[in-house]
Amino acid sequence: MKTGFIGLGVMGKPMAKNLIRAGYSLIVCDRAENPVNEMAALGAEKAASPKEVALHCDTILTMLPDSPQVKEAALGNNGLIEGMRPGTILIDMSSINPIASREIATELEKKEIRMLDAPVSGGEPKAIDGTLSFMVGGPKEVFDRFKGLLSKMGSSVVYCGEIGAGNVAKLSNQIIVAVNIAAVSEALMLAKKSGVSPDTVFHAIQGGLAGSTVMDAKVPMILEGNFTPGFRIDLHIKDLNNAIMAGHSAGAPLPLTAGIMEMFQTLHAAGYGSEDHSALVRFYEKLAGETIR
Ligand code: NAD
Repeated sequence: MKTGFIGLGVMGKPMAKNLIRAGYSLIVCDRAENPVNEMAALGAEKAASPKEVALHCDTILTMLPDSPQVKEAALGNNGLIEGMRPGTILIDMSSINPIASREIATELEKKEIRMLDAPVSGGEPKAIDGTLSFMVGGPKEVFDRFKGLLSKMGSSVVYCGEIGAGNVAKLSNQIIVAVNIAAVSEALMLAKKSGVSPDTVFHAIQGGLAGSTVMDAKVPMILEGNFTPGFRIDLHIKDLNNAIMAGHSAGAPLPLTAGIMEMFQTLHAAGYGSEDHSALVRFYEKLAGETIR
């Protein structure tokens, strides 16, 4: 049996290529023709719909934008559920609302189909290198069976708990990244307005307790004013929106997340939604009437 792969965007295409390199036979599907043709040139078979993928596979991977797209591909017209047989496994690697993961899994269970939610962190360069970090929820024995497959695309594959737990971990990651970027922007503006070089402050604190991977990756971009994504503000809005919905549902107040959501929304409304999320600094630049660079 072949392995299905649906969603060949910025992340999905290089991940699918790594599976082909590792010897998997893929059937692929995407709304866009170009990436499907590119994968076909590498030996993948093309399918016209998720249903067609499901008819030929016992394992199916999805890497789609958000909950509505995953629901549509899994449960919609010509969706996976119409072609899946009992025993088929769905591994959804998209970053979506954990509540949606649980809803999809509940529908699939009615046909004896089991599901993992397995979102990633790392971005396009790590998708290309096969060094993504996977956070996985779902039945433990299914995780144990498919950890090896995920390891072909990632260097870290961590089991987080029941279905939805992978996306809870991913949303936690996205909250911490957003708050870090905001804190860094706020602090560098204090430095600039106080007449101390932001570059010097960065180098002075980078190795101390305030240092972080986010600081190392994003401050050079902020200092250069280079906001080429990377990870777009609009995608981070999508994740924080899911975090706020999941937080409300679980009874976990997220005041910092809500505040940063409004900063990102302000930048989206001003036309910066396609810039890297480090462009959050623009919000502080507007408030202070001063640029960091
Ligand atoms: P993308 O927009 O580049 O790719 C999504 C792909 O899905 C597109 O090719 C689109 O044509 C296809 N698609 C959408 N709806 C479809 C449907 N119903 N049926 C078939 N194909 C459909 O997105 P991406 O950057 O690859 O991100 C995918 C997921 O990974 C998102 O949840 C994102 O948040 C997450 N993620 C992205 C990054 C990043 O740096 N880009 C990093 C980590 C996680």
